[in-house]
Amino acid sequence: MRKRVKKTDGSELPVDAESSAKQHILRATGLQKVYDEGTFNVHVLKGAYLRIKEGERVAIVGASGSGKSTLLHLIGGLDRPTAGQVEIGGHDITKLDENEVSALRNRMLGFVYQFHHLLSEFTALENVAMPLFIRRMPVRDAIAQSSAMLKRVGLEDRMNHRPSELSGGERQRAAVARAMVTRPLCVLADEPTGNLDRENAQNIYDLMLELNRELNTSFIIVTHDMTVAASMDRVLKLEDGVLKQI
Ligand code: ADP
Ligand code: MG
Repeated sequence: MRKRVKKTDGSELPVDAESSAKQHILRATGLQKVYDEGTFNVHVLKGAYLRIKEGERVAIVGASGSGKSTLLHLIGGLDRPTAGQVEIGGHDITKLDENEVSALRNRMLGFVYQFHHLLSEFTALENVAMPLFIRRMPVRDAIAQSSAMLKRVGLEDRMNHRPSELSGGERQRAAVARAMVTRPLCVLADEPTGNLDRENAQNIYDLMLELNRELNTSFIIVTHDMTVAASMDRVLKLEDGVLKQI
């Protein structure tokens, strides 16, 4: 079946099934990012190139400050590149307006950050349901789908807890559930276990790998943990503004 993306005005963007997007769900080509710092410019990315296949798991490593978060922001359409292209599901997001990028992000991508970024005034269930509410799914369906995902990540007994009433590991589980509840093509995870102890970190990675196998979701994971990186299909190193195969 052809995937379609509903835009905020109600019309739909077809995903180009005929293009090589069929093979690559995400393509970044010649990505450059220059931060204008007034008297000097910071040239963070200098032509990064990335291809991700459906279900593929890729680790990105690199020194602090090498531009890993910048790269994920560009791939996720949260910021615009200075030069280069990002295609998700066959759409060049650098050619879409903000509303279209938001719709595409909501339909096709999930995000997990080092800090959980759960909304403190909402319960775990409401937080996980948020991306579904944003796409205007009927409340009953959104709650059912979110409950199932929370159950899947082992939080069935914590659904009505607020983030402050959850442990660090539980918060990251809820963040993973929120990223996966929309059944995205790809999850972008930026040091997702940076704040967890070894055991909780491993549990989160195990969970992401299980979900990858069950749902065929692609994962791009920025990590410092070489053991975790080595368990992915590929490891890329961001160095001197480009991605290198290692
Ligand atoms: P990493 O995630 O690999 O640690 P970042 O992508 O966060 O690296 O940052 C890469 C470089 O870009 C750093 O030198 C950082 O200071 C700079 N940088 C990041 N975001 C901005 C911004 N919004 N404005 C200016 N410089 C930035
Ligand atoms: Mg970073």
